[in-house]
Amino acid sequence: MLNSDSLNNILENKAISRQDIIDIYLNAIEDPRELFSVAQNLRKKIKNNSVTFSKKAFFNIVNLCKDTCSYCTYKAEPVEEKLSLMSKQQISELLKLAKKYRCVEALFVTGEQPEQRYQEARDWLKENGFKSTAEYLIHASELALESGLFPHTNAGNLSFDEMRELKKTNVSMGIMLENVSERLTKKGMPHYLAASKRPKARLEVLENSGKLGIPMTTGILVGIGETAEEIIDSIIAIKQLHQKYGNIQEIILQNFQPKPDTIMRDTPSTDENYFKTIVALSRIIMPEMNIQIPPNLSPKSYQSFLSVGINDWGGISPLTPDFVNPEFSWPEINKVDENSKKAGFELKCRFPIYPEFFSFVSKELRDKMAYIENEEGLVKEEYWR
Ligand code: SF4
Repeated sequence: MLNSDSLNNILENKAISRQDIIDIYLNAIEDPRELFSVAQNLRKKIKNNSVTFSKKAFFNIVNLCKDTCSYCTYKAEPVEEKLSLMSKQQISELLKLAKKYRCVEALFVTGEQPEQRYQEARDWLKENGFKSTAEYLIHASELALESGLFPHTNAGNLSFDEMRELKKTNVSMGIMLENVSERLTKKGMPHYLAASKRPKARLEVLENSGKLGIPMTTGILVGIGETAEEIIDSIIAIKQLHQKYGNIQEIILQNFQPKPDTIMRDTPSTDENYFKTIVALSRIIMPEMNIQIPPNLSPKSYQSFLSVGINDWGGISPLTPDFVNPEFSWPEINKVDENSKKAGFELKCRFPIYPEFFSFVSKELRDKMAYIENEEGLVKEEYWR
């Protein structure tokens, strides 16, 4: 039996304690049906029957990284074929192509402060006329805006000043919290060789985004050896940040998938029932939040997550791979549309920023969005279909 009192409290909008959440989780391990149904009811009540996505192009700006996470296949060494050091010319060409494919979002991704560790990164910056990766990202964001795309940068632990500059051109930005557990940074754990993933460092970046009023996407990586309490504490930490600054626009819940060239290659993929339980818990911890799972990481069953509380598919690209999970191609947007419909939901295209957060961005950016924006603050259908 689930703890009905706690679930009723949620439906009545009363605060629930950390211990309540742990109890709900433990009960759901036995039988998740009541939790799923509460999460689904909340989702329907607050987010109606639509599900959103962002039509994007993924700009793999530079994948050199000063850190090493045990699960990461995105990061490249200079000798590897997958090394990406995008030139200004390559960025401009991809922007043109993205426009042709009617993408809305230019997602700019980099490794963590590559120039601190690699001469190759310092040379690449010099050749292109920049002193830092952040400076290059500012330029790339300006190019994107000129091309009619909307930048969303996810470049690891940027400084307060770097984020303040990027806010001028980026409608929103992203950084995964991943987990607040210090234990996961100890020897033999996934974040041992990744100073940027220390919870204190990540939380500081999120705090800074709050102080700067940047609409922020963050999230949790589920299934990397965390305990249920650690994951609950991570979701609560995001909730507390949002209560303080009001700028967390969505939570990505990403299920771990092992990569053959990584230390964690033999760790099994995240169990789907466990993952769904975490998704549903997130909805009851933060009923109003936009909650996203990447559909390519659950290729056979992503639509079933619509019945445990999600309301967004995140960025889907019709032209570039998911460089973080290259073995999982994006589903076709038409197929996502069809599967969402079958589950009773209408697919809508959003900007990288959600409408609830429009007041956070400048008039200049809002004016640029106006050309393709509909009355709901989403992208006009004729623009993205
Ligand atoms: S996950 Fe990010 S920080 Fe970790 S190794 Fe990969 S690129 Fe670097």
